[in-house]
Amino acid sequence: MKSDQGRCANSAPADIDIIDAIHDGARLAALRGLDLLDSAPDEEIDRFTRLAAETLGVPVSLVSLLDSDRQFFAGHHGLGGIWATDRQTPFSHSFCKYVVATKQTLVVEDARRDAVLSRNLAVRDLGVLAYAGVPLVLADGNAVGALCAIDHQPRHWTEHELAVLEDLAACLRSLLDMRAALNERGLHDRLTGLPNRDLLVAYCDQLLERSGSEELMAVMCVGIDSFAQINQALGAREADKVLEAVAHRLGGAVRRSDVFGRLRGDVFTLLAPGVTDEAEILTLAGRLREALAARPIQIGGEALWVGATVGIAAGRSDDSGPDLIAQAAHAMREAKQRRDRIWVSDASGNARASSQLRLRDGLRRALDAGEIYAAFQPVVALDGGQVRAFEALARWNSTEFGEVSPAEFIPIAELTGDIIPLGERMLELAAEQVAAWRVETDPDLCVGVNVSPLQLEQSNFGEVFADTLSRFGLPGEAFGIEITEGGLLETGEIQLRNLREIKRLGTRIALDDFGTGYSALSYLRHFPIDTMKIDRCFIETLGEDRVSTSLVRAILAMASGMEMQVVAEGIETEEQADLLRELGCLWGQGFLFGRPAAVESGGPV
Ligand code: C2E
Ligand code: MG
Ligand code: MG
Repeated sequence: MKSDQGRCANSAPADIDIIDAIHDGARLAALRGLDLLDSAPDEEIDRFTRLAAETLGVPVSLVSLLDSDRQFFAGHHGLGGIWATDRQTPFSHSFCKYVVATKQTLVVEDARRDAVLSRNLAVRDLGVLAYAGVPLVLADGNAVGALCAIDHQPRHWTEHELAVLEDLAACLRSLLDMRAALNERGLHDRLTGLPNRDLLVAYCDQLLERSGSEELMAVMCVGIDSFAQINQALGAREADKVLEAVAHRLGGAVRRSDVFGRLRGDVFTLLAPGVTDEAEILTLAGRLREALAARPIQIGGEALWVGATVGIAAGRSDDSGPDLIAQAAHAMREAKQRRDRIWVSDASGNARASSQLRLRDGLRRALDAGEIYAAFQPVVALDGGQVRAFEALARWNSTEFGEVSPAEFIPIAELTGDIIPLGERMLELAAEQVAAWRVETDPDLCVGVNVSPLQLEQSNFGEVFADTLSRFGLPGEAFGIEITEGGLLETGEIQLRNLREIKRLGTRIALDDFGTGYSALSYLRHFPIDTMKIDRCFIETLGEDRVSTSLVRAILAMASGMEMQVVAEGIETEEQADLLRELGCLWGQGFLFGRPAAVESGGPV
């Protein structure tokens, strides 16, 4: 029965509602934010129970906090024996749970007269007969517990007594709100509001504990480059704004499941649970760096480019949070010292550049050391087998890594921009070789080189190309260039100008790996393409898979309508060659006719 003041007298709501209300996530989070569960006895809180007991003239008063499966007494007066030492009971012994669930004062004069409360074990074990409990509702609206007065006799609670209890509860609420605010600040960085080191460590341990046996958790420390100089140049106040802007930018680049915080000064930390391998971790790290590199930070009307260095450590459920964070911070310092961008800490805590990054550095040196060479693979007439051209394919024989596949190093070179010098080197090697062949064997021989989208974006690519031809005394027809669909999709003015310039020299332009890209065929109308190279994946299943056969037939029909030539890539068997001939394909390339080989090793010709 509810009174006008929002009090309940002698009535307990059904247990089912109570459990739902008690288990509310926001409520439990607010409760944890108080940091009072299982804390040492707290004189400040005990004082409220003493005051309540003395003023109301009752033997017992409690400050009960309702956790997910128990009530914990953050303060108590008049409890004896095991209850005083344990400071907790199960829900079976709690009246306060009703107060928290309803957020209303509960007033009980004689529990034995209530059908539900009479069965509550607090009546039997704690001698609770009369009870008055006021909810402790924090400023955020969450009821975390109750302040209650208990008598071992039935009694009537006067309005005055209840008003005193409510006043005391109001004071206690203010104290709890202040504690929550202080705790919040204690675990969050003041400037950015992000979790600080203590909270990051706690989260890290928690995430590790929860991670599955197959999962990795990555910890990344992201240090702002040259922050000391930024601080000096701009002054502390402006430098703080840089930190805030960086926090915002990086925070926007993390996944929802990640925890992002500020470890100290100019170092931010990302906890990324549930990752599976190093490639995924590096992608995340790259995303953080790109978030900063994408555009400058505007400070006082000026644009400031801010870079970052990332140290990474990865761990599993049996690792320790503080250790992992320390390893990531160590890897970041290592990277900074070596003027590198990303370093990874291995299981024994030694920082190293990741295998991909080692390849990247190796590739840079390889270009200077002449470890990159060209292999040539013939392109033949399917009818008769006559060689019409060779494709130049980059090869890397590394002193450090051995033979590295282009499938591995070309994507890295594209990511780092090294594809530009590499592509120029390949142009030279191909030009040198075809010039020799044209003199020695066939004056009409032609060589195809692969050109990356990035090369095509360079405004001087047309010139570099023309210059290479003239240095080797070659006409444009001695060359073909191969570009992929991806390269064309992003084609803008510069790319188009380069392609036209190349085309003017008489060089053929081939669309490589046709069918694997986006196949937004509209670009075929806009660009001066002469040849389509059907990707190996269609040839592989030719004859076995009806779709591949139909696709190849369709590509051939389309090309003939547009007066383009077609080269089938990756022909390995006579059956494939026969089928292609039947379908009307004139040109082919593949292991059946010749593998890519270097000229010195007795290769082509
Ligand atoms: P791509 O331009 O499509 O080159 C054809 C690839 O197919 C070559 O792989 C070649 O060795 C392989 N291949 C040829 N015939 C057969 C066959 O019958 N069976 C099989 N299984 N494979 C065959 P490679 O040399 O590993 O090159 C891979 C890719 O790397 C190239 O594909 C090209 O996209 C890229 N690439 C290679 N050299 C360069 C270069 O100098 N510059 C650029 N930008 N990319 C290059
Ligand atoms: Mg190619
Ligand atoms: Mg290809």
